Amino acid sequence: MIPPSFQYHAPTTIAQAVKLLESLGADAKLLAGGHSLLPMMKLRFAEPSHLIDLNRIEELRGVWERDGVIHIGAMTTENDLITSSLLQEKCPLIPEAAALIADPQVRSRGTIGGDIAHGDPGNDHPAVMLALEAQFVLTGPRGERVVPANGFYLGTYFTQLEADEILTEILVPVSLPGSGWAYAKLKRKTGDFAIAAAAVYLRLEGGVCSRVNIALTNVAPTAVRATEAERMLAGSVLNEALIEQAAQRAMEACDPAEDLRGDREYKTRMACEMVRRALHQAVQRARGG
Ligand SMILES: Cc1cc2nc3c(=O)[nH]c(=O)nc-3n(C[C@H](O)[C@H](O)[C@H](O)COP(=O)(O)OP(=O)(O)OC[C@H]3O[C@@H](n4cnc5c(N)ncnc54)[C@H](O)[C@@H]3O)c2cc1C
Repeated sequence: MIPPSFQYHAPTTIAQAVKLLESLGADAKLLAGGHSLLPMMKLRFAEPSHLIDLNRIEELRGVWERDGVIHIGAMTTENDLITSSLLQEKCPLIPEAAALIADPQVRSRGTIGGDIAHGDPGNDHPAVMLALEAQFVLTGPRGERVVPANGFYLGTYFTQLEADEILTEILVPVSLPGSGWAYAKLKRKTGDFAIAAAAVYLRLEGGVCSRVNIALTNVAPTAVRATEAERMLAGSVLNEALIEQAAQRAMEACDPAEDLRGDREYKTRMACEMVRRALHQAVQRARGG
């Protein structure tokens, strides 16, 4: 299908984009990679009269480090995340998850900001951001505000972003020594969204799990933290039995919608399996394996 007609705007600075968004109001939509927005427009789920294209705003692209925090511009593409040597060295969970998103075509245009802002529970970055305790910089006519990923998602396609705000940067703490991470994703075929996936970030200090974050993709109306499972592991020496119990407990965080990828029970059980796999891999990496 062909989308309804719209007016196209191509600002070159964040300030120009914010001004446009403020003046055009609810009739306008931001265009990033277009890999979620354009399908929605073709299906008439979205019918904006104006598109504000963020692709010419250079200040929205790139990955850099400042004071132990990694900054990622919202318009950084999946491919740029995968090939970033800074991320590979200091926050490898992000490139690992980005490499599992869709296919090469989508990864060459799709952006981390679009993936996070879209609010689809099937998107992979939201769970990764919850596991990493990331923060989002939202820029609007009233200036900038920084909100934690935890709490950003209010419902399916519903976030803390106000209609006149742009997600401009993602802030992620540098991974500390003794950290382990993993993103385990089950999909029906290459290029598909997750049936269920789990992001794990943990830290071992003196053999004890001093910190553990577990977040799930596509098994609830938004990405969610499996907080009860985390509680079982924090402060303990991790072993096979404990990991198994935590994976089972993670199912309590699930409230999936039935769809072509599976019914509620299947998705919930697959979430358990993904948590089990991600925990095993994260522990192995934290131990230097
Ligand atoms: C075949 C296919 C398979 C896919 N598989 C996966 C998958 O496995 N995992 C996955 O995570 N995703 C998947 N996707 C989605 C893909 O990753 C999209 O690129 C992503 O959801 C949105 O990113 P985008 O840059 O294309 O944003 P767009 O489609 O341009 O925008 C999406 C929404 O976010 C808003 N937006 C965009 N940027 C900003 C910003 N900076 N600030 C505020 N609002 C903003 C837009 O207005 C729009 O409402 C798939 C897509 C396709 C077509």
